[in-house]
Amino acid sequence: MACHDEPGMLPLEVCRARLLDSVTAINTGQSVSLTEAIGRVTSEAITAAHDVPPADNSAMDGYAIHQADLHSKTALTLIGSSFAGHPFNGTLQPGQCVRIMTGANVPEGAAAVIMQEQVLCHDDLVSLQRELQSGENIRRRGEDIRASETLLPAGRRLRAADIGLLASQGIATVKVQRRLRVALISTGDELVPAGQPLGPGQIYDSNRAMLQAALSETGFTVIDMGHVADNAKALRQRFLEADASADAVITSGGVSVGEADLVRQVVGDIGDIHIWKVAIKPGKPFAFGKLPNSVFFGLPGNPVSALVTLMQLAMPALLSMQGNGWQAALTMQAKLQAPIKKKPGRADYQRGIVSQSEDGELLVTPLGNQGSGVLTSMSKANCFIVLGQDQGSVSQGEYVTVEPFNR
Ligand code: AMP
Ligand code: MG
Repeated sequence: MACHDEPGMLPLEVCRARLLDSVTAINTGQSVSLTEAIGRVTSEAITAAHDVPPADNSAMDGYAIHQADLHSKTALTLIGSSFAGHPFNGTLQPGQCVRIMTGANVPEGAAAVIMQEQVLCHDDLVSLQRELQSGENIRRRGEDIRASETLLPAGRRLRAADIGLLASQGIATVKVQRRLRVALISTGDELVPAGQPLGPGQIYDSNRAMLQAALSETGFTVIDMGHVADNAKALRQRFLEADASADAVITSGGVSVGEADLVRQVVGDIGDIHIWKVAIKPGKPFAFGKLPNSVFFGLPGNPVSALVTLMQLAMPALLSMQGNGWQAALTMQAKLQAPIKKKPGRADYQRGIVSQSEDGELLVTPLGNQGSGVLTSMSKANCFIVLGQDQGSVSQGEYVTVEPFNR
């Protein structure tokens, strides 16, 4: 048996920076309808064609008033109405007012809108119960969007509000990057797919379904390449198949130092391994490399390690490849509710539950069993408790950095 020297572990930040440096964004735009565009990444900047709102319109149900009557003590004569979609076709003169509804165009000659609750009406005479300022309750043409300004930049992951912005321009289709294609492979002799009985020594393949869910939730096309035994020839063949159809190939398992851990060797044969072993817990054996046509991420087999390294290492690179770029997670400081034992040496991503006390203080409780195979910790948690590489144990009551799962 060979003796395995452990080369130095790469600090997490160095690893992430190298990953981001090593990948390039795909650049293949395609048109999709607005109804299909949520979560897609724009492939070009989108310019506004129209002012929004297209005309000055009322922010209230009330009466449109002439500039000369903003402080009027005498009743104004009601001369007509302006409804949303049915503007008043005339010009307001001093001494007159027009009944106006929210969203209706402000008539020519009007300087302000008074709320209907602030007038008294007698037949067609309207008395103002307060003084108005010029422009009051009028939403100006173009105050939201000006024609020819940039509506959305290239590389924007479209959110619901963005879809609304595009719709406000009458845009029905939008140019987005094609979805990144990610091939997923589980490795390990012990794995059994769902739906089949377990034999002695076997376990169900939880990683593939979990990683598939995380990747499709992010908007990637996942190519499920199944599960492969710990066999170099079989791995090689499946990796080549995956490489032929995907931008990125992700495996789980087989990247550690055991005798059945063949993944790195096989990737090294058909491509290159650039990174192996990162100073992160869980997830130390993470590997990164290149296959002939795609990039390769070797995630550790333990389910928590697989998900943590997907989120912290592979995902930034994948988002960057998708053209959306990666932004550091939003973190906050929370008061630790139980002590954490830790040795300096690796950044620790403990699973925790963050909550807010009645007086608004952020509190975080680490989940009991932090084993890298204990997936319930990840399922119960709503945040990572992030402890830096050089940090040691932390006492109850100290403040720690917390990274919520859902921003
Ligand atoms: P490995 O990284 O291959 O040494 O695997 C480490 C641990 O993770 C072992 O206990 C494996 O049985 C387990 N494991 C590997 N792949 C999976 C998987 N796809 N689903 C669940 N557990 C796995
Ligand atoms: Mg294995």
